[in-house]
Amino acid sequence: MLAAMPPPVPSPTPAPGAPRVRERGDACPGALRLHSADDGHLARLRLPAGRLTARQVEVLADAAEALGDGRISVTSRGNAELRGLADGCGAELAPLLAEAGLLPSPTHERVRNIVASPASGLDGLGAADVQLWARELDERLCAAPWAAGLSGRFLFVLDDGRGDVTGLGGDVTLVAVAPDAAHLHMGGRAVRVAAADAPRAALAAARAFLSAARAAGTGAWRVRELPEGHQADVRDVRKALAAEEVPEAVLPQGPPPAPGPLGPAALHVLAPLGRLTAGRLRALLPADEVRLTPWRGAVVAGTDPARLPALEAHGLITRPDSPWAGVSACTGRPGCAKSLADVRADAVPGRPGLPVHYSGCERRCGHPHGDWVDVLAAPGGGYLVDGAPVPRTDLAPAVTTARTAPRTTR
Ligand code: SF4
Repeated sequence: MLAAMPPPVPSPTPAPGAPRVRERGDACPGALRLHSADDGHLARLRLPAGRLTARQVEVLADAAEALGDGRISVTSRGNAELRGLADGCGAELAPLLAEAGLLPSPTHERVRNIVASPASGLDGLGAADVQLWARELDERLCAAPWAAGLSGRFLFVLDDGRGDVTGLGGDVTLVAVAPDAAHLHMGGRAVRVAAADAPRAALAAARAFLSAARAAGTGAWRVRELPEGHQADVRDVRKALAAEEVPEAVLPQGPPPAPGPLGPAALHVLAPLGRLTAGRLRALLPADEVRLTPWRGAVVAGTDPARLPALEAHGLITRPDSPWAGVSACTGRPGCAKSLADVRADAVPGRPGLPVHYSGCERRCGHPHGDWVDVLAAPGGGYLVDGAPVPRTDLAPAVTTARTAPRTTR
C-alpha cells in the first residue's frame, strides 16, 4: 500500500544511563511509504551498494523529471531520494521502479540498507570484491521473511579492506581481510568467517540482533540501542556458521576514493551539494553500472576515464582539489519547515580541506562521519561555524579557516 507520512515525531531522549525505549517503528521514508515535506512528498529508494544499472539510471532520471522536481538527492548511505512529488504520485512511481528491478520486495524495501566499498573490484585495491557480497546479501535479505522486521535504519557495511566505509556506523560490518576470509563485527566484537560465508554471516548477525531486541523489549532500531545485558552477540553467528572469534579485531580506517579516474575503466565524480539533476545523472552513461556513494557522488564502472572533462563541463566535481569536494548541506528551506535558512543557497565552499556540512537546524540531517566542519543556521540570518557566530556575508573566510586550520578530532 502507498502512503504519505507526516514528519516523524522523535522518540523521547532517555535519561543518562537509561536504555532508549522505542514506542513505535521507525518513520524512515521509502519508495512505497512517502514522507510529506514542505516541497511535496519525498521517496527514498534503497540501492544496495548504491548500484544502478544503465537502464535503472534512465528510469530514475525519467521519474525525477516526470514526477518530481527533476533532481535526485544522493544520501549519506548512497541511496537516492526523489523530492517534490505530487499527492497520489506513488501509484505511478511504484510500478515504474518495480518494472526496472528497483523494488524486488515490497515488504523489504526499507530494510535493504547495504553500503559497500564503491570502488571494490575496479581499482585493484581491497582484499575481495565486496560488491558481489552486497548482491548476495541483498538477495538473502529479501528472501528472509523475518528480515522485514528490521528497522529502516539498521545498516550493513561491507568493506573490502581499504577502510573507506568502516566509519559509517554499520550495525553489522563485514571486512574482507584476505581473498578467502572476512571479519564480521557487531557490538564491539568480531568473528572470522570464510569469504564464501560472509553474506550469510551478516544475515545471521542481523537475526541475532532482532532476537536480542525482542528479548530486551525496548523496541531497539540499532545495535547500539540494545540495553545492558541484552547485547547482540557475534558468537551467536558461530552457532550458524563455522566462525572463530577474533580477539581485539580492529576496523581498518582509510580515506574515500578521490574524485577522478579509478583504474583503466572506471571513474569517480561527486554531485554538487549531493544533488544530481536528471541531466547530470544521465550524463554518467554510457556505463556498465553506476554506484551512488556515501560521499554523495557516483562511481561509474565500465566507462572511459577520459570522459572526466566532459563530466566536469556538465557541472560534476571531478577533481579532489575542487573547493566543492566535501561540501554538503541538509535540505533546508524551502523543503524543510524546521530550517532557519536556505542553507543550499547560502553554502560557500571555502578552500579545500575538511568536509563541511551546512544545516538548517540542530538535527544536522545527513552530516558526514569522522571530522568535519559544522555550519549551523542561527536565528537572525547568521550562522554558527563550529559554534562561533558568523554573519552570512562572512561565511567564506570563516569556512576556509575552519576547513584548513589544524584541529582536534570532533
Ligand atoms: S537538519 Fe535540515 S533537513 Fe534536517 S530537520 Fe533540520 S532543517 Fe530540516
